[in-house]
Amino acid sequence: MIKIYNTLTKQKEVFKPIEPNKIKMYVCGPTVYNFIHIGNARPYIVFDTVRRFFEAIGYDVTYVQNFTDVDDKIINRAKEENKTTTEVVEYYIQETLTDAKNLNVKPASFHPRVTEEIEPIIDMIKTLVDKGFAYEVEGTVYFNTPKFNDYGKLSKKVLEELEIGSRIEVAEQKQSPLDFVLWKPKKDGEPYWESPWSNGRPGWHIECSAMSKVYLGETIDIHAGGEDLVFPHHENEIAQSEACNGVPFANYWIHNSFLNIDNKKMSKSLGNFKTAREVGEAFGYDVLRVFMLSAHYRSPINFTPEAMEAAKNGLERIKNGLDSLKFALDNCKESSDSQSATQLQEIEKLNNSFFEAMSDDFNTADALSYIFELIKFSNICTKKETSKDVLEKLYSTLTNLTEILGIIYEQPKKEIGGLSDEEILDYISQRTAAKKAKDFAKADEIRNFLLNSGVEIKDTREGVHFKRV
Ligand code: AMP
Ligand code: ZN
Repeated sequence: MIKIYNTLTKQKEVFKPIEPNKIKMYVCGPTVYNFIHIGNARPYIVFDTVRRFFEAIGYDVTYVQNFTDVDDKIINRAKEENKTTTEVVEYYIQETLTDAKNLNVKPASFHPRVTEEIEPIIDMIKTLVDKGFAYEVEGTVYFNTPKFNDYGKLSKKVLEELEIGSRIEVAEQKQSPLDFVLWKPKKDGEPYWESPWSNGRPGWHIECSAMSKVYLGETIDIHAGGEDLVFPHHENEIAQSEACNGVPFANYWIHNSFLNIDNKKMSKSLGNFKTAREVGEAFGYDVLRVFMLSAHYRSPINFTPEAMEAAKNGLERIKNGLDSLKFALDNCKESSDSQSATQLQEIEKLNNSFFEAMSDDFNTADALSYIFELIKFSNICTKKETSKDVLEKLYSTLTNLTEILGIIYEQPKKEIGGLSDEEILDYISQRTAAKKAKDFAKADEIRNFLLNSGVEIKDTREGVHFKRV
């Protein structure tokens, strides 16, 4: 029995899939105009672990995660960098996929992109207009929010209160301040598609409703994302999908809490972010994964170097324990002995506790603690003579459990020869310090030195990135 905290009902519910042994799951993906930061990495890691757990207990999971590849931020980034939006998008999609792979996040079953799904998006808007849930004003199509009676059911917001809190700007043509854009006409130089209303592009919320329907059908099991998406994004998705299809959109809504730094949400706009790339390179991507899973996904987690060090030590303990176990297994005696039965029972007990923790709303923090207990037990066993069946059971259990959390895997290869990542990062911080001190000659000198050593650096808004050329 698996229990999930459902944002829709604000309580833990027993999970019942629509079809036996199958799960249809949609996770809102990033807007691709920059490198993902470790706040964005949280939903990646958390929901990948949810998926791994379901797969481990026999479910066939269809996992969809979109890329928002048309958006004002992308258009602005392309202008700033004198590139086409396609170039910007292609670059950041590849970099995001690289980060996800480095974090041991399994590729989604489908990674749809808005620009490749315009037809179903237009179809959905057409249906909403036909059913009277949307209206057009001079090429812009709005969703008629007050017409959808259930509006507010996810975020528990009351329509009247929302209306009081907002007002229609003079320039807007909306009937209600809560109406939101489904389609908007292009401005000069922007990418656009033809539609019955104008040459333009979709609003943000409609893409997930349309893509979820294309890849998973009208009603899905789980829809997930960070808690900042509850309102308005997910509330609007529900309104669009349910008004269009006339059936429930998603049975379970799960939301991760924030990753904070200095106890404030990490975000682009506050400028207090660290990219997954820089943290992964500095501490290890696997360490970042352990750090994320060391908290329950609905609790805030505070990023500090000390917490990362603790995660690093913990992971080291698991790896060392596994190494000793492997060695003991290769050198042990065949038969079982008088202690085997109780030892096997102890392993089974910890294994069950792990599954109970994960079944209780994906409590990865507790699940991780049972892995540590198993390692402790394993270390006792490997220090004395222990029978093969016990060591085998320990090994298979630990391999299975660490695989569910996705924490033991090969790290991306560091270059052999040339400068190590640590050395490059050191040069980069020396250059940043030189720039700060307005010693531009020295900054250029370091850049040229790196280039001559086969390392190209690039200044971006998210800090300095490097690649080997
Ligand atoms: P965005 O590109 O800002 O739409 O974010 C992509 C995903 O990352 C969404 O699911 C967000 O809710 C999530 N997210 C953004 N910032 C944080 C944060 N500081 N902590 C946890 N999740 C976040
Ligand atoms: Zn979405």
